[in-house]
Amino acid sequence: MSKKGIILLSGGLDSLVGLGIAKDKYNIELALTFDYGQKSAKQEIETSKKICEHYNIKHKVIKLDWLKEITHTALVSENEIPTDSLGTSESAQNVWVPNRNGLFLNIAACFADSYSYDYIIFGANKDEGATFPDNTEEFRAEISKVFETSTLAHPKVVAPLINYTKDDIVKIAMENSVPLELVRSCYAGGEKHCGVCESCRHLKRALLANHGEKYIEILFEK
Ligand SMILES: [Zn+2]
Repeated sequence: MSKKGIILLSGGLDSLVGLGIAKDKYNIELALTFDYGQKSAKQEIETSKKICEHYNIKHKVIKLDWLKEITHTALVSENEIPTDSLGTSESAQNVWVPNRNGLFLNIAACFADSYSYDYIIFGANKDEGATFPDNTEEFRAEISKVFETSTLAHPKVVAPLINYTKDDIVKIAMENSVPLELVRSCYAGGEKHCGVCESCRHLKRALLANHGEKYIEILFEK
């Protein structure tokens, strides 16, 4: 029986490109998108659905209403979303969702255990690894090790972009014909990318660094 994978998909740059470059290698069959009351939940679900149609894989949305209740940061609350605290621990605190990657990977591990997935893919990158402890290689290796004892299927956790910056990831996307026009990275809940939140600024900078002006035209508010 051939091995197969499941991916955490928010529709953001890392998860989109991670799927694009790892789909065949890890035989990714199913994507999970989480709705935990984040301001951009609706857009993340819509874009993830389109991405799954593009790559012809199954898509499942998992609702986590209780996570919103215990999350106090700007991603879900009325607090203003940070715009310019690039890479600082303060910015991490402003958008922190309690144990998010730990929880999401554990939920994926439940699916892996039930449906015999061999790989769990998630979209950590080098920039965020500097700010968020759950985006580091150390975290990936440790949680992968936990699944050796907490599951029967022993899925391996894979983060194909963990050594790459956002600039690198946009370059990789372009080289691999990943549909960047589908990406959704904005923390806010508008129809298009707001262009001012921290996530938008990172994306815009990475697109500009790779001559991706045409995507800025498509994705961002005028
Ligand atoms: Zn934004």
